[in-house]
Amino acid sequence: MSSLYERLGVEKSATTDEIRRAYKDLAKQKHPDRGGNPEEFKQIQEAHEILTDEQRRRMYDLTGSTNEQGGPASGMAAGGIPFEFMSGMGPFGMPGVAFDIGSMFGGMFGSRGPSGPGRRPKHPKGPNKHHDVGLTLSDFYNGRDIKLKFNQARKCDGCKGTGAATGGTESCGSCGGRGVRTHTHMIGPGMMAQQTGPCDVCNGEGQRVLRPCKSCHGKKYVEREKILDIQIRPGMRDGQTLVFAGECSDSAEYEQPGDVILTLKRADAPTSELDQWEWRGNDLWIRKQITFAESVIGFKRTLEGHPSGKTLVVGWRKGALVHGATLQAPGWGMPQQGGGTGTCFVQIWVQTPQPREWSVEERDQLRELLGGEVQTMDAEDVVPLQPSSLDTRN
Ligand SMILES: [Zn+2]
Ligand SMILES: [Zn+2]
Repeated sequence: MSSLYERLGVEKSATTDEIRRAYKDLAKQKHPDRGGNPEEFKQIQEAHEILTDEQRRRMYDLTGSTNEQGGPASGMAAGGIPFEFMSGMGPFGMPGVAFDIGSMFGGMFGSRGPSGPGRRPKHPKGPNKHHDVGLTLSDFYNGRDIKLKFNQARKCDGCKGTGAATGGTESCGSCGGRGVRTHTHMIGPGMMAQQTGPCDVCNGEGQRVLRPCKSCHGKKYVEREKILDIQIRPGMRDGQTLVFAGECSDSAEYEQPGDVILTLKRADAPTSELDQWEWRGNDLWIRKQITFAESVIGFKRTLEGHPSGKTLVVGWRKGALVHGATLQAPGWGMPQQGGGTGTCFVQIWVQTPQPREWSVEERDQLRELLGGEVQTMDAEDVVPLQPSSLDTRN
């Protein structure tokens, strides 16, 4: 396609007047009313229109485009950046697109966004602190009062947590007292991003301390010794938690301090199977060893270390006991929450007699007492039994 200048038959350096004159002459010759080609006449008209418009002529000279907006029809500029992004002016007069990263991600200020000038928004509640409280079975049985001592920071009463003496502040010059500042970053060619965040000079407070508070020396918080009274009551359980609401330290990040949560833990847990008190629900369990003869004729035992502190003597005389049999002493278990006491279970551990050779007289006596047939082990039709690994007795 011929250039706009060629269409009108003028030089590229032609003045606007020269272009107008050339157009007038051509129009007379090429007008369709006078038998000219309508398409050719349209092209002459277009050339005249563009070249007599100072701005469009300059754009045409630069880009060769006859497009109204001055860019190639595809909308792509030479650098490959989508043309739309280049339109408009970014911050500081630079072409670009302004993003507010804070609003894009929405999370920089928590869910609420900046909450007014001068205040760095806080999370509502601080994290809880967990501690285990080690207790003996006897503590759980009888109850116990414990004092837990720790250092607790509280907002200074003298300055209400500002850290400044009365009238001892001035507006932060860096953020104009707003507590927030907007930073601009280049995030790509011609693309600017705006990020709004807490002012780093005043830490988002909007105020600068000139004269610090005398009570807290400008620290905003005062540490003091805090004593928690922990009352272990009979009926409380191993693993139970006690919540002391808001007893963590105050801090700048949270509107409310977290809770101190104590978990009651039995510290004297059983280490071996025999003679150890096991706590199950409301009940106490203990395994007691008796001799084989006692399993037959009955026994009496003192159960040491009952958590009540009382001496518990138990006895049985109502028939033979097999290994693993369970007897009970109601009322000797653990205290229950709503009153009452669980059961003490005694599991019998029968001690197997040492192997020995019984004399004929002893065998006869035992058989007479306990029953049994006359044994003639020498007979040839007897299959002698062997020890089995399935024997769980010990
Ligand atoms: Zn500031
Ligand atoms: Zn203070």
